[in-house]
Formats: sequence, structure tokens, C-alpha cells
Amino acid sequence: MSAGQRYRLRSPASGREIVLEAEPQEIYVDRDSGSPMEVVGKLLPLAPSPSRLPWAVENLRFCPWCDQLTQKDLNDCPTCGRRMGPLGA
Ligand SMILES: [Zn+2]
Repeated sequence: MSAGQRYRLRSPASGREIVLEAEPQEIYVDRDSGSPMEVVGKLLPLAPSPSRLPWAVENLRFCPWCDQLTQKDLNDCPTCGRRMGPLGA
């Protein structure tokens, strides 16, 4: 049993994505291509949220204050509570 944070990792070579409980200091290598995978997202447990957008990479941006992922339809960061400003700046 583990309560580790789950991340989406993508292989730049193949575009393949996996979800696993990643440790921040570890390097994860794609089984097929042998190339290191990069973190493309962080999965959160489902929780009440003011956003209607699904928690998917195309709907997310990084908060300029705390650098956590947040849905694009929110003005205030759910992690740190600060106003994030307009998109596409
Ligand atoms: Zn924030």
C-alpha cells in the first residue's frame, strides 16, 4: 500500500505515456525506447473543485506563484489561493 503521488510520464521518443507513483529524484526510462521519460502531469485524487474541466494536460496550466498545475478555467490557484492573471501572457 502506498500513498505516493502519481504522475503522468511521457517518452519523448515514442510519445507513450504511463502513470505511476514517481519519486522526484528518480529517472524513469521507457521500456521500449530506452530513453528517459519526462513528467508531463501530476494526478490528484478526485476532490471537490470549483473547476468543471477534467484534470487533463490540455486543460491545465502552471500557477505562476507556486508552480502547481491548475485548471485553465480558474482565476485563483486552488493550491496557494493567489490570483493567476490572464492566460497566454
Ligand atoms: Zn498557486
